[in-house]
Parts: sequence; structure tokens; C-alpha cells
Amino acid sequence: MAPKEVLIYGAGMSGMVAAYNLAVEGHQVLVREQEPSYGGSRVFNPSLHTTPLDVAATSEYVGIDLTPAFVPVSSLYIYLHDLEIPAPAAMSYHVERSSRPQSLDTLLYNKCLEAGVKFEFDSPLRAEEVPDLQPGTIIACGLNQPAYDLLKIPYVHWYAWMASGEADSEPYAWIWLDECINEYGYISFANGIYYNLLFSYGQEIPREGLERYRSFMKRVRGMEEDDWEYVRGVAPASSPDSPHLFHDGLILCGTVSGSIDPFMGFGISGALVSGKVAAIAVTDREKALEEFQRFNRNFAKVFQFKHELWYPLRARVDLLEDLARILGTENTLKLLVEGLRKGRKSSAIPGFSPVSCH
Ligand SMILES: Cc1cc2nc3c(=O)[nH]c(=O)nc-3n(C[C@H](O)[C@H](O)[C@H](O)COP(=O)(O)OP(=O)(O)OC[C@H]3O[C@@H](n4cnc5c(N)ncnc54)[C@H](O)[C@@H]3O)c2cc1C
Repeated sequence: MAPKEVLIYGAGMSGMVAAYNLAVEGHQVLVREQEPSYGGSRVFNPSLHTTPLDVAATSEYVGIDLTPAFVPVSSLYIYLHDLEIPAPAAMSYHVERSSRPQSLDTLLYNKCLEAGVKFEFDSPLRAEEVPDLQPGTIIACGLNQPAYDLLKIPYVHWYAWMASGEADSEPYAWIWLDECINEYGYISFANGIYYNLLFSYGQEIPREGLERYRSFMKRVRGMEEDDWEYVRGVAPASSPDSPHLFHDGLILCGTVSGSIDPFMGFGISGALVSGKVAAIAVTDREKALEEFQRFNRNFAKVFQFKHELWYPLRARVDLLEDLARILGTENTLKLLVEGLRKGRKSSAIPGFSPVSCH
């Protein structure tokens, strides 16, 4: 196969995995990024994300040893209001998104440079370029709204209160459920920093919601945080058939392709494997489509489960809390472990969100 010139928009996780894979195959790859440097969107990063992942299997699939960037979670807690349920942390990891040395972005960027990928920073996709984009151009623009609008990719809004800072702590995480949001609050500690996010899909979070979260943090974890920023973004999780590898001849890559867990919103694993799939798509569209469908085969089922069953239940955290108190923490934990075990067994994406793989 003759080497091609490939243009990629977005120097995030998926864009760099695609770029690396194409460059090692001998293609000439240019990555255009809207920010002045790598490290992802400056609106959201530096940040620390938590995800279930099979690091070895994912590394093998994407052709890059990802181990140095993933810090095992030592303990994980789920809170139904103030009720604490210790959750299984095995195979869950923290990963830093930034341009600091220990971040995933730095690992991928260095691999790309070694393979000969070229980068152009301060170089966003512009409206006037859209009609002339060559078929096979890779779009890997993450959760930033402008690219979706320019390319007419359907999306839903999400809203969040975000806080971060330095912290000398073991690498733990929590997830907090409360009626003030339809998703969750979570915190991750690792690499000497923490990242705290309270987020909702499709509905703004008034300050009272943040105050409820702050009050939980202070009451239950003895933690105070004053410095919060309100952010918003989009995700292509608008319908059960959101995942798309191709769009008007373009190759979609990462979260913009819909490769995101529709239940918890975990996007790391989907972005990594879809970077490899996008690289395959440059030379073999059929094989890439097969892989894409394999990885996203549970999307519609889980999307429907979430919208039809989970959201109505989720709106009554008080009932979930009562149920967990009746069952007892140990039995609730057993149910959780069983769900995770089943999910992982049927997962096609290595370590992809277990809840997305019923
Ligand atoms: C605040 C937040 C918290 C999250 N927490 C978690 C978590 O805990 N666990 C988890 O699994 N997932 C989490 N996710 C989801 C996960 O981070 C994303 O799904 C993942 O980063 C997507 O990877 P990507 O390669 O698609 O995009 P990204 O890695 O975000 O990269 C996109 C790149 O494209 C660039 N770009 C955007 N628009 C343009 C443009 N028009 N032109 C050129 N470049 C452009 C951006 O600047 C960025 O560098 C979170 C997401 C956010 C925003």
C-alpha cells in the first residue's frame, strides 16, 4: 500500500493513537491542534480521570505500552447521599490529562514524535476549510462544541462544576449520587494532584447543587473546596445509534465518533481503541467498520437501559439509599461485584466500562 498524507484534527488521546499507528506504517501524518500545545483542551485540563481499563490488552491493541501513564486506584467509594459503599477498585485506574511528564498526553506525544508525526499547534479546524476537507481526514476533536457545529454532528450538552489542585494522597476515587444532578460527582487523587467534577447531562447545575456537594464533602470526607469553575461541553450521546465511524467521507475518532460508555460516560478506553480503528480506516474501511461495530456493539442496549430504567431510578437516590440500607453494605457490594464481573466478561473493548457491556 502506497504511503498516504493523512491530516488529523485534534492532538488528544485518540488523535495521537491514530497518528502514531499511521506514522509507524510509513504514512506522512500532520496533526492540527487548536491549543498552543499538546495536553488536550485547556478548558478541562490539566485533569485527572478515572476509568476501568485492561491496560495490557489496550496497550497491545493500540501498539503502545500505556502502563506508565495509568495509576491503579487503591480504593473506590460509591456514595448514595452520605451512605458509603466501598466498591471494587481492581482494574480501575487514574490517568492524568495534561502536558506534565506523567500524563498520558506526554507519553503519546513522545511516541508520535519518535514515529515522525508532525504537529501544528494554534491551528483549529475553521469553517471555511470544511467544504474542502479531503475524504479520509480524521476528526478527533473530543468534547468541544465548535467542531460538532461545523461538521453538523448531533450532540447533547453536559454541564459541570470543576475543581482541582495539589494533594498528597494515596490514589483513591469516589462517585457521589444525589438528586441535584442526573449523573454524579467524582474525585480522583493521584500524581500529587486531585480533580473534582460534579456533572449533569442536558440540565444546568444551579449553585445550590454545588452547595449540596460541598456540604457532603465537608460532612463525610472532611474536605473543603472553595475554588470551583463552571464548565460545559458536548457529547455525541444523543440517541441509541450515536456511534459513527464515518461522516461525509471523514473518519471520526475518539469521543466524537460516539465511542464512549453511554452509562457512566467513561471515554478513555473508547478513545484509545477508536484511535487505532481510525488508523485502520485510512487503508481498510471495511475492516475498520467491523472493529468499530464490535467495540460499540453494546451502545444501543446500554443507552436504552440508562434512559428507560436507570434515569427514573436514579432520580430517587433516597430509594436506592433505603434499598442499600435494607440489603446491607455487604450484600450491596456483592451485587456490584457480580454486575462488574458479568460486564467485564462480555466486554469487547478491553476493560471498557463494565456497566456498558451487559
Ligand atoms: C471534564 C471531563 C472529565 C472526564 N472524566 C472522565 C473520567 O473520569 N473517565 C473517563 O473514562 N472519561 C472521562 N472523560 C471523557 C474522556 O476524557 C474523553 O472521552 C476523552 O478525552 C476523549 O478523547 P478524544 O481523543 O476523543 O478527545 P480529547 O482527548 O479531548 O482530545 C481532543 C483534542 O482536540 C482538540 N480540538 C478540539 N476542537 C478542535 C478543533 N476545532 N480543531 C483542532 N483541534 C481541536 C482539543 O483541544 C483536544 O486536544 C471526561 C471528559 C471531560 C471533558
